[in-house]
Amino acid sequence: MVLATALPTEVIKIATDPTTEPFWQAAKERRLVAPRCGSCGHFRLPPTAYCPECQSGEVEWVDLSGRAQVYSFAVVHGFPGLPDITLVPAVVDLPDAPGARLVSNVIGVEPGTVEIGMELEVDFHPISDGWLLPVFRPVGAEQKESAS
Ligand SMILES: [Zn+2]
Repeated sequence: MVLATALPTEVIKIATDPTTEPFWQAAKERRLVAPRCGSCGHFRLPPTAYCPECQSGEVEWVDLSGRAQVYSFAVVHGFPGLPDITLVPAVVDLPDAPGARLVSNVIGVEPGTVEIGMELEVDFHPISDGWLLPVFRPVGAEQKESAS
């Protein structure tokens, strides 16, 4: 059984700026957070300097539970230089941040079993320069992996 994985550590590089850095700093501490408008409460993912709803520049970073559901996904076989890798890039809904969606990867899953609405929980995958990338596993995936 081939399980979907994330790209190797050295392949993923991120650039941060003052708008996105709190997201990455929290991930480094294995916390999933989302920016919520300090004025109207609208969740702003991906992070934006100004609220698309009310143009406020105020933001508060809210800790999320790490639960998510698959909103849409793809199955990708191979990546330049990595012909044997299987990836499941996905857009996930975050139930604690209504209206916010995150683009990520589902890992530790047999790609054929992924479906819209699948329940996920966050995990953190090491990437370049000591950062951690939030990725998602099916709820209960650990048991499944050790059984295979
Ligand atoms: Zn707002």
